[in-house]
Amino acid sequence: MPSSRREFLKSAAVVGAAAVTAAPLFADKASAATPPVDKDLEGVIEMHVHADPDVRARCIDQLTLTQQCRRNGYRAIMYKCHDFCTADNAYLLRSMVPGIEVFGGIVLNLNYGPRVNVQAARMATQITGHYCRCIWMPTYQSAYDMKKAGKTGVPVLDESGKVLPEVVKVMELCRDENIIFATGHSSPEESVILSAKAREVGVKKFVVTHSTQAPWFLSLDQAKKCLENGAYLEHCVLPYYKGPHSLLPKYFEARQTTMKDFAEYIALDPSHQFLATDCGMSKMPGPVDAMRDFIHGLRGAGVSEKDIDTVSRKVAAGLLGLD
Ligand SMILES: [Zn+2]
Repeated sequence: MPSSRREFLKSAAVVGAAAVTAAPLFADKASAATPPVDKDLEGVIEMHVHADPDVRARCIDQLTLTQQCRRNGYRAIMYKCHDFCTADNAYLLRSMVPGIEVFGGIVLNLNYGPRVNVQAARMATQITGHYCRCIWMPTYQSAYDMKKAGKTGVPVLDESGKVLPEVVKVMELCRDENIIFATGHSSPEESVILSAKAREVGVKKFVVTHSTQAPWFLSLDQAKKCLENGAYLEHCVLPYYKGPHSLLPKYFEARQTTMKDFAEYIALDPSHQFLATDCGMSKMPGPVDAMRDFIHGLRGAGVSEKDIDTVSRKVAAGLLGLD
């Protein structure tokens, strides 16, 4: 090797070594505050997550989680609380954490009366900022959930199986405001009936909440019927953590949804399905780790990069009115 070349390599090695030891890890203070973004999380949208303030035990509060999601490159996050509206906090969180879209909504549980409360839903859409993007039907106090405890819940159908007039009014509100009408904890059968009515009413954004989570798990046939009615299916990763390996005792005997299960439903029509975590309870993985698990898991189950992009970013963006 000519000596000049040898000298060049020697000096290059010295420069290289110096660069490794002397170069700052981050170029400036602003980027130092932002760790390298996980490409899987960049631009993703969290559509169903719980955080403090709440009346149930949560592992994180809304401000901390919004900051975490922002640092990890999320595009948007929508908070859900079973008992209180979250659209008001969304307004404040936006001013506290710039660079991420924050939304909320309202769940029409008993807190708003023994029947689905149209007025509460309407007021939620009028809160400062207009960041209410979802009206959920009753959840823990739904007729379906309460029946198991031998109690009467907040109904969505009458005794003959027809959609109740107040529920139709909420559908009309969601249609007019162009926001999501979500099934909450309606039974799989109720969800199919609601999806047909929503189509008739002209709701553009009808969502079957955690469609692959027991006990609201739709059969493949029910999922197809809902999709035929123009519905969107939400998949939450939470039931992946259920079963004998669960850290939460009450989930020990609950049915696990495997990544293969999720992949099977997504294959029906990714353009009308999206991911969320439904995490935020204590003793469960935090929502950001859970979203990472979900995306990695789906990839492992054979879902294509294109479909992962669709279900983790594109569909939710359309539902939130971001595109
Ligand atoms: Zn939830």
